[in-house]
Amino acid sequence: MRLVLLGPPGAGKGTQASILSDKLGVPHISTGDLFRANIGEGTSLGVEAKEYIDAGRLVPTEVTARMVEARLEESDAANGFLLDGFPRTVEQAEILEELLRKKGVALDGVLNFQVDEDVVVERMLARGREDDNEETIRTRLGVYRNETAPLIDHYGDEIINIDAVGEVDEVNGRAMSELEKLSK
Ligand code: ADP
Repeated sequence: MRLVLLGPPGAGKGTQASILSDKLGVPHISTGDLFRANIGEGTSLGVEAKEYIDAGRLVPTEVTARMVEARLEESDAANGFLLDGFPRTVEQAEILEELLRKKGVALDGVLNFQVDEDVVVERMLARGREDDNEETIRTRLGVYRNETAPLIDHYGDEIINIDAVGEVDEVNGRAMSELEKLSK
């Protein structure tokens, strides 16, 4: 299965993606995790990305798209993937479409994890990641509203809404039952 996961920062996409990845047997490809791995290893991509991430801004699309393209070339992604954190803008969605078109494959759907802003702020502050302070959270929510939320219209009929408020297992159950419908 080839899926894109959408939702505001703090919606729990990453948590859901890793459970879904185990259940569906496809890799969880998280741009945030890939950036953090590069930062940890001190690669030049990591050094460049860190500045933007610490400020809560988007890493330039050119850099991000190159990283995603390389990851999608790896053999484990040949038969499916869960993309978490990419695309984050309509421009990135168009790049992804072109990449998949060249491979002769298509997305099966776009899971949109829905949660209110006050819940996401609470979750992010509880998580305590380095880029989770109130100021960057505010910036990231603004970026989400202006740049990422338009993807919901962009994907139109491909969107599968998932209520992301509740326990991890409960949210996963909702996602799995939507995905079962899809494969029928
Ligand atoms: P969250 O789920 O809290 O938004 P992520 O781990 O997905 O966190 O992303 C952390 C940061 O990595 C983002 O704030 C952004 O700076 C950068 N980033 C992740 N994905 C992208 C992307 N597709 N384009 C540009 N920047 C990205």
